Amino acid sequence: MVGCDCAVCRSSEPNNRRFRSSVLLEEGGRSLLVDAGTDFRSQALRHGLSRLDAVVLTHAHADHVLGLDDLRPLSWQKEIPIGVDEQTQGHVKRMFPYFFTETRSKSSRPQVTLTRLTPGEVITMAGFALLPVSVWHGDDKILGFRTGDFAYLTDCNGIPDETWELLAGLEVLVLGVLRYKPHATHFHLEPALEAIRRVGAKRTVLTHLSHEFDHFSLADELPEGVEPGYDGMVIDL
Ligand SMILES: [Zn+2]
Ligand SMILES: [Zn+2]
Ligand SMILES: [Zn+2]
Repeated sequence: MVGCDCAVCRSSEPNNRRFRSSVLLEEGGRSLLVDAGTDFRSQALRHGLSRLDAVVLTHAHADHVLGLDDLRPLSWQKEIPIGVDEQTQGHVKRMFPYFFTETRSKSSRPQVTLTRLTPGEVITMAGFALLPVSVWHGDDKILGFRTGDFAYLTDCNGIPDETWELLAGLEVLVLGVLRYKPHATHFHLEPALEAIRRVGAKRTVLTHLSHEFDHFSLADELPEGVEPGYDGMVIDL
């Protein structure tokens, strides 16, 4: 965290040095990115990202969308669809009006289109059958995503009634957990562990971790089947 000198912020341990949360799904040479936050450019350069077939957004908070402008070079190969719900669609249009206006130079904006997502309705993007699901992020309902036996839910502090059944039978759940103490819009550890038990995925990986969590202390205290994620983590599905 900017301006903090706690042990985690001073740590040189790579697992404690965290960029903003995001996940890249890859299969058969196709790739789909969930969220393009403030650190997208650094993350893409670090991991040599050279193509992207689609992007989906969970919601329009800065740490999930402010990297969208850096889709430019990838979008010149092929226009990139960005999947959004109604609320996020409005925010993206207001935040990046120049994405959607004709300009003399193609290079001055990413070549993207917005695709509307509806919770509970499967859509195929970049060849992935993707099920958007609703989660509570404070008073807002935002999106999480399921594809096959994998689900990614970040920035949530509650799972709405209609979503539980959509999360049945998961192999891997990635769930956002911010800290130990309660927070208005994010899960803290205790209720997250309750939700994890109820979802019952074989393996759960925690993401969106704040500097209150030291990777290794957290790993030691989590129950079996639950582990902290870290930047660059790869999960084979
Ligand atoms: Zn700190
Ligand atoms: Zn958020
Ligand atoms: Zn966030």
